[in-house]
Amino acid sequence: MPNLATGILVFFLTLILTTSSSFSGQSLLADKTIVIDPGHGGIYPGAVHNGIREANLNLTVALKVRDRLVAAGATVVLTRTSDTNLAAPGASLADDLQARVDVAKAAGADIFVSLHANADEDVNTAGVIGFYPTGRPDDLARALKEGAVQETGAVDGGVRPANFYVLRNSDIPAALLEMGFLTCQAEAAWLSEDDYQNHLADGICRGLSAISDHIRRPGTTRALTCKTGECPCRFHATIWLRLFFHRRLPACIHTHGGRRTKRYRPCPSAASRLYFGSSFCGS
Ligand SMILES: [Zn+2]
Repeated sequence: MPNLATGILVFFLTLILTTSSSFSGQSLLADKTIVIDPGHGGIYPGAVHNGIREANLNLTVALKVRDRLVAAGATVVLTRTSDTNLAAPGASLADDLQARVDVAKAAGADIFVSLHANADEDVNTAGVIGFYPTGRPDDLARALKEGAVQETGAVDGGVRPANFYVLRNSDIPAALLEMGFLTCQAEAAWLSEDDYQNHLADGICRGLSAISDHIRRPGTTRALTCKTGECPCRFHATIWLRLFFHRRLPACIHTHGGRRTKRYRPCPSAASRLYFGSSFCGS
């Protein structure tokens, strides 16, 4: 352990410089923990149109996605596996949504994907839309949306920033995929088909594989130090990480021991994994 008497938190800020990767998406998925959140459930049916209850559709596709990801070697956690709400009876909707975020935290997940189906006043509106947390990278939402569009031929609804609870409260790469519009009769008919749902699940997994190609093993690592020669304090580490974020450089901070405080518990063996920039690092 570093010198505790100094009372200085010891950080090694490690800038991960990416190199070309020969990993396949499948091999990269193999060491990922992915949380799939079938939106709504139980007392929250979500959108109900053209004979489809959104909560059911979300769960059906989520189970198909889970099976595919598990086959690819990923660790998959679903926020629900049946038609239930997550929070206790009488709890608020925010509690239900927080419970979904908590599942990802408890699982130590790398990726959070929430699946939904859409509704609009205009019954002609159709298509797949990927939502990403406002102010954060859109690459996960984009990959999921593109995978789904390519596999299904659905209308490309693009990607959009959003302040949805599960997005803004996730501190890992998170996206919410609106898989189609239940208010559009033609799209609702497709969405109710098992074959179409299989294509949707294939597309979502394809997107996850694509985003995994962004995940690079450290090619070159550099320990950065402050002018004093010391490892950066938390304050400076945070500033640097912001800098990397704005330059869209993938970076992660590894902590090696240090003073234990209430606010922060350093991990003795470079175990802290944080997400910054357009990519995220492995352990
Ligand atoms: Zn929904």
